[in-house]
This record gives sequence, structure tokens and C-alpha cells, in this order.
Amino acid sequence: MKWRCLSGILILSLLVGCKNPRLHLLNVFKSIDLEVSNNSQAYQLLTDICERYGPRMAGTESAACVEELTALLFRSYGYDNVFFQPFTFNQWQRGTARLRIDTSGIFTDFPALALAYTPSGNVSAPVVDAGNGMPDDYAGIDVAGKIVLIHLGLLPDTPPHIRNVHRAQKLSLAIAQGAVGCIAVNPVPGNLPTTGNSTLDGGMIKIPAVSISYEQGAALRSCLSRKKCTARLNTKNTCTPANARNIVARLEGYEFPDETIVVGAHLDSWDISPGALDNASGAVSVLDIARIFKTLDLKVRRSIDFVLFMAEEQGHYGSELYVREAKHRNQLEGIRYMFNHDMTVNTYGFNLMGRYESEDLIREIGTIISRTDSSFTNTIAHFTYLGSDHAPFLMEGISTFTPLCRYQPYHTYHTSADTQQYITPEMINSNIRTSAKMIYALANSPVLPAVQLNNEQLRQYLIDNQLQEELVVSGDWIWN
Ligand SMILES: [Zn+2]
Repeated sequence: MKWRCLSGILILSLLVGCKNPRLHLLNVFKSIDLEVSNNSQAYQLLTDICERYGPRMAGTESAACVEELTALLFRSYGYDNVFFQPFTFNQWQRGTARLRIDTSGIFTDFPALALAYTPSGNVSAPVVDAGNGMPDDYAGIDVAGKIVLIHLGLLPDTPPHIRNVHRAQKLSLAIAQGAVGCIAVNPVPGNLPTTGNSTLDGGMIKIPAVSISYEQGAALRSCLSRKKCTARLNTKNTCTPANARNIVARLEGYEFPDETIVVGAHLDSWDISPGALDNASGAVSVLDIARIFKTLDLKVRRSIDFVLFMAEEQGHYGSELYVREAKHRNQLEGIRYMFNHDMTVNTYGFNLMGRYESEDLIREIGTIISRTDSSFTNTIAHFTYLGSDHAPFLMEGISTFTPLCRYQPYHTYHTSADTQQYITPEMINSNIRTSAKMIYALANSPVLPAVQLNNEQLRQYLIDNQLQEELVVSGDWIWN
């Protein structure tokens, strides 16, 4: 019998294996609500981390201090199985970036931020507008030897069937077209340039690439539609090996200890802000959910690994290591779900990322969650992307999902404005109470519909979710 054919009642009776599962879950959910509203430590912790430690770029001293702090916190909550997963990675360090453009006959400075893994470089060349910087945008234009202007999102006149790709893919395309430099436009208004990873292989990319604000991008694009402009781009950056550590706290299941739900968030941020939304919000969510399970003495049938990953921003190094180690210990097939928390505030549903086998169960649990929380609308979405720590799990065929969040405002992503002033306690707590309930229900369900896809199923899943092209470009498509 297919899981999706099961009725809601049957699903519920399977949920927690007791006579009145709905009532049991309602009672636990109410106790979670009470604990969050009376004792949530998440917002205070987010403020402390942001104010005391500042940016937490993986491999830096402040990041190492926060690694220590979070391990201590897990232990203080009552976890006795807390451990680090150390690793070495190629860390990019920002130097200087200067962009000058002759929009009106004289060269004027444009505030710019280097994209990560931009090398040192010094180029002067005409600027060519390549729209969204997608393959079709290069038809009929020649960017060889030029500095290419690209939008990091999708411009308003983009046909609806076009799906945006990661900035690293756009950079790789610009380099392949022969561009000698790149000006990437922040797709979000707010007068701020943005940063972010631009490498596909972990090494320096071949050309200097900087970002400018949405507003300056629009002005430059308008200028280029009327006349020719030349830009001078000067960047200084370095790359060196650095050390970082994941932090894992394990809650052992009493019935199926070898089955695991991974509840993860990246702890690192970029260097230009404390990363309050990206991703102190997710990290303190995972910490406070872990605290709640111990405080309320919630027993779980299957195990939960609460994981704070490091070096997500520089290339998912921590989550890749976690998957590698699980594989090495033959524990990968025991992972039922990877529940990722990246920028998790104002949670109103769940994104199941194209994995339909758990949809009925998650919706059924969501119905009970919505009875305890009117702000939770139990919305289920299916959009898939590879830009966070769920990706290494997804690529092993593991079922991954993430909270669906409302961002208000959203202008801080990867900018100097990603500070605690835009976060409120309720924004964080809404995710913590919702996600804690979902984790409890899944960890106690007598059976779970989640399966690990085999090689052929994974291939089809990636095609169905339009990830094939992206994986081909990054060299990670293993099929012919
Ligand atoms: Zn993030």
C-alpha cells in the first residue's frame, strides 16, 4: 500500500503509537508552547552571539570561540554526548575592493564588495550588460575581454519559465564567455552591496568579481542602455587553509537508536556582519530546540542529532564532512530526515523539497500544530535548491526539508546590515515552537515513510526538480 493512500486517522494512529495520539501530541505541543513563551533563551542568545562575537566567518578566532560556546551550551542543557567534528578547508579572506566607472566622463567610485573567492586583480575594460547572466543572456553579445554586468536574481522582464541559478554558476558562465571582470547586482533593494560564495571548486575564481547595490545596478544598467562605460576594478584577497569544527549533540532514541533525524543549522556567517538572520537565527533555533527536549524531558523513539555546521558559507564544508563521517561509519542509511534551519524566522509551514512520500504525515502533524498556533498555516511547499547544508544529504538520496519562513524585511541577506536589530523574539520563537513540535512527532512516529533514494531514483529526482543543469555545470553530475 502506498503511504499517500493512508487516511488521516490511520496516519495519526501511527504517529505516536498510543491510544489517543492526537491528544498526546496536543498535550506535548502545549507544553512546548508554554516552555517557549516562558523560557525561550533563543533571542537573548542571538543577541549575545551577535554583539559579543561579531562576524563568525569559519576559521576565524571569533568562530572558534562560538564553537566552544555552543558545545558548552549543549552540555549545560544536559547532553552528555556532545562532540566536535574538526576539518580543514580553503578559507577565503577579504582584502580590498575598489570599483570606478566613467558613467559621466569621469571615473567615480561605486561602493562595492568582493564576492568570496575573488582573487586579487586589476582590470580596466568596457562594461557589457548581460542581464541575468544566464546562458540565453549571452546570445548576441560579446563579453570577451570586457567587464560583465549581471543581476544576481531575475530581472522583472524575465520569462516565467526561467529558473534562477546560484551566483557561482553565473560567475562560471561569465568566465567561460571570456569576461575579465564581473559586476554583480544585489537583487534586493536597500542600497547595499552583497557578498557570497562565487566558486564552484573551492579555489579562487579566475576573474575579479564584485557586487554593487540594486539601486546602483539599475542606474548603471540605464546608463549602459544610452552610452558606453568603462570600469576599473581593483581587488586584493587571499586564500589559506584554516580549521573549523561542527558541533554535534546526540539525543539517543529509546526504540530505534540507529535511526536518526538530523536537525542542523550553520553557525558561521560572512565577515561583514554578525549574520543575525543568516544564520544566528537558525543556529539559536537548533540550540533552543535541543534545550527544550531536555528541559521537558521529551523521550524519543529514534535518535536526533542536533548539529551546528561550520563553513557553510564558504562551501558546505561542515555538512559534507558530517555526511562523509556518517558514510564511513555505515550510519548514513539510518538518517531518516535532514531538517535544515537556514534563516529561519516566522515559520508558517514546511518546504519538503520535492520529496512527496512524507507529505501526508507532515501535513497531518501540521494540522495538530495549527490547533495550538494560529500563526502557523500548515502550508506545504516543494521547491528545491542546493545552496545550504541540506545539499550533501539530498545528494545521498536522504529526505530533506526546511521551515517555510516569512521574511520581513529581507534586505539584509549577505550584507553589512544583517544585524540583530531586524530580528524580534517572536520571529525566532515562531520557528522554535513549530519546528520542535514537528521534530518530536517525527522522532516518535512508530514508522516513517522517508526512504533513501537509490542511485536511479536520485537521478530522476534531481531531473524532476530541475537540478541537473546546475550539477552538470558544477561537475557534480555523476550520471551520463
Ligand atoms: Zn545561510
